[in-house]
Amino acid sequence: MSVICSTGVLISSDLSSPLVFNVKDLGRSPGSMRTLEEQVPAPVDLGVALIGVQEGSPVDLELRLEAVHEGILVSGSAFAQVAGQCGRCLEPITYTLDANVQELFYYADAEVFEGVDQEEQRRIENGTIDLEPVLRDAVVTTLPFQPVCQEDCQGLCSECGVRLADHPDHRHEVLDPRWAALAGLTGSADADDASAASTESDKREES
Ligand SMILES: [Zn+2]
Ligand SMILES: [Zn+2]
Repeated sequence: MSVICSTGVLISSDLSSPLVFNVKDLGRSPGSMRTLEEQVPAPVDLGVALIGVQEGSPVDLELRLEAVHEGILVSGSAFAQVAGQCGRCLEPITYTLDANVQELFYYADAEVFEGVDQEEQRRIENGTIDLEPVLRDAVVTTLPFQPVCQEDCQGLCSECGVRLADHPDHRHEVLDPRWAALAGLTGSADADDASAASTESDKREES
């Protein structure tokens, strides 16, 4: 009976998203729990400007679902492959992200607490929970706003654009016209000193 019932719920629910899960089996007795371990394709826009999880790449959910008085508490980790580029030198960056998930889905008939933003309250709808917005929050808040390939990345040479981390001794020999002018001045000053010195020696000879 219950199997047929939950199957019916599944069909009527939004199954266009692989991140919608049926939680009817948990019942409503506080304390009942189970794990949810699934690999799902990453939804679109799972990231920020310079870095994120590519749409469709595998996301491993390792979650625990626990019935509590007001709803179902979802907690655990989402592991995803992050790809992006360094904000300073544009070097590609990839790493595995371990995003912490912690969300309470309220029962549809649970009372709304005053002072809590309605938008922030997630609901169990038709016996299902939609983990997509939860996953997005968990991943996006973990991503660096200014991703760097390494903490002390020096970026690119402002003159020619080479990546300075690849060329630690990189510099340009600049012949600044001001230095050339100064060199000329120094030359004439030396000449003056020489003539002054000769004058002094002349004076000494006189005395
Ligand atoms: Zn870099
Ligand atoms: Zn350069």
